[in-house]
Amino acid sequence: MTGPVPILLYHSVSADPPSWIAPFAVSPATFAAHLELVMASGREALTVSQYLDGLRGKTALPQRPVLITVDDGFADFADHALPALAARNLPSTLYVTTGALAGGAHETVLPTAAMLRGADLPGLEAAGVEIGAHSHTHRQLDLLPKREVAAELARSRDVLADVLGHGIRSFAYPHSYWRPLVLRLVREAGYDSACAVGNRLSSAARDHHLALTRLMVRADTGADAVAAWLNGPGTGALPRRRRVLAFGWRQYRRARQPQRGRWSP
Ligand SMILES: [Zn+2]
Repeated sequence: MTGPVPILLYHSVSADPPSWIAPFAVSPATFAAHLELVMASGREALTVSQYLDGLRGKTALPQRPVLITVDDGFADFADHALPALAARNLPSTLYVTTGALAGGAHETVLPTAAMLRGADLPGLEAAGVEIGAHSHTHRQLDLLPKREVAAELARSRDVLADVLGHGIRSFAYPHSYWRPLVLRLVREAGYDSACAVGNRLSSAARDHHLALTRLMVRADTGADAVAAWLNGPGTGALPRRRRVLAFGWRQYRRARQPQRGRWSP
């Protein structure tokens, strides 16, 4: 039985990110320093689908896995993140918002930024990056009607499958927002894993395969925190009060939709 698994979540890896993503961006030097911590931890990096195959007993799981994930599909993934990952032979998982891909219609609520093109994705995959879906428009799926959630899940899956020539297995919830109906639709769309965000390491025993807990690395996340995630026993469960508040928070967000001018991943 594998112990708690750190699933790291990054967004932009850039020394000069757009201001709207800056609180969630790390510099290339910081990213490289974190990867050095991964190497020093002795953990074995897996893609999300490799991890899932291990959870399902299809393959042997290493004793101490680590997963590195990156959301949204910024162009700086290819410029800065991938070279650092490849230099250390670290596989990773990139969750792409298909409506934000460069060269297509900008069908996303994400503000503009330099994004990857669909044509970049096969090369990334060949370099050890699993490509997963992150919806088409990046709207908050827990607030959308069932029909629109299903369309988001299908469209992002189909765009990526078309570019890559094979099925897409993994999904990441935009803003980490999901609810049981969304999770069920993710399964019906054919995904076998999905990532959310929490404040603890992922647990093979506790986490649903369609709600794997990731640790978000922000601009102000210190190397000591990353080292503690990689080396420590875990950070405990989400406090009860925060779980209770989640429902009220969803009502608030629904009331003020559509959001403009404020953004969080
Ligand atoms: Zn996102």
